[in-house]
Amino acid sequence: MNFNNNFNNIAESYLFAEVADRVSAYSQAHPDKKVLKLGIGDVTLPLAPEVIKALHAAVDDMSKKETFRGYGPYEGYDFLRESIREYYKSHGVNLSLSEIFVSDGAKSDLGNVLDIFSDDNTVLVPDPVYPVYVDTNVMAGRKIIYADADESNGFLPMPQKGVHADIIYICSPNNPTGAAYPKDRLKEWVDYANREGAVILYDAAYECFVSDDALARSVFQIDGARTCAIEFCSFSKTAGFTGTRCGYTVIPEELTKNGMSANKMWFRRQSTKFNGVPYIVQRGAAAVFTEQGQREIAQNLLVYKRNAQMIANAMDRLGIWYTGGKNSPYIWLKCPGGMKSWEFFDYLLNNAQVVGTPGAGFGKNGEGFFRLTAFGSEEVTREAVERIIGLLKTGL
Ligand code: PLP
Repeated sequence: MNFNNNFNNIAESYLFAEVADRVSAYSQAHPDKKVLKLGIGDVTLPLAPEVIKALHAAVDDMSKKETFRGYGPYEGYDFLRESIREYYKSHGVNLSLSEIFVSDGAKSDLGNVLDIFSDDNTVLVPDPVYPVYVDTNVMAGRKIIYADADESNGFLPMPQKGVHADIIYICSPNNPTGAAYPKDRLKEWVDYANREGAVILYDAAYECFVSDDALARSVFQIDGARTCAIEFCSFSKTAGFTGTRCGYTVIPEELTKNGMSANKMWFRRQSTKFNGVPYIVQRGAAAVFTEQGQREIAQNLLVYKRNAQMIANAMDRLGIWYTGGKNSPYIWLKCPGGMKSWEFFDYLLNNAQVVGTPGAGFGKNGEGFFRLTAFGSEEVTREAVERIIGLLKTGL
């Protein structure tokens, strides 16, 4: 037996463990100080009442012979896929039902989709980046190249002449940078992918934060995307499903090469290795798309959006450069005074007892940047913002 040697090449992920260690050491040394956390990427508000109602009803279904469900369809129940199709239609995107696959979340599908691509593909990921894209490809031994995201391009890298890639990751609105692609710039990526015969793996996990019409909510709003893109989305941030687990992946019928269809291969892959998302969870997810469900999740999202705005306003007031905050729950700021990411982390923790995430943990271009998130409560966010302003307003 031999293990997969590629695992030796995966970088250890110290980021969140190191954050937790430093916060815990600080709290032990200063038990009287209240530490405020704006570092987490998890939601804090509970599921919408309409979702809870649907979950309860689905549990009852499972208790009766007439409505009990066993194994469900690999690709998800029609009632949920039809709701997803309608949701896309409301953003001007027409999908057929066979193009929608329900899953237990975007992270699994982002990793699993690599099963349908050969290991000799070259992968292009932005730097800084959501680490899952890198690690899942390192596990398969694929060659990875990076697209530099930085202040000069507003953390929205564009295709570079002379650079070829086969698999391109785009996350918009982005984690960690909060930057989101306008439709016209995304079109350049779509054209590039079609020219290169590449696929775009488009992570739309934060699409629900987009309110500006010039920005894309789905890659399929862009002409030409149906021949070169797969989209991953999730109920995690949209409707607080981080613990409930449900997402979906869209693979257009036109995504083909050498007579092979990505859609058919994915169905084959899923039916071989996956037995579907629980009926109860899918009922809960479908409730998100009802009129009442949409109203309720909008209320929760508004809390996060207001928090993001509050943090962004503070950065404006302090004259700190940042991306995100407006169409994203993340604010990605340039550390003041030329500090490095971890230096600023310690400075903020020691002097304002506010915790964020050092940008250096997301790639080399993250050095000197810092991520704050809007998923805390309104009270915690307000207090943290006041402390940050109090600390930084006089300059460093
Ligand atoms: N994609 C991005 C960019 C994320 O930030 C996250 C979670 O934080 C995910 C995907 C994972 O989503 P899910 O909870 O659906 O697995």
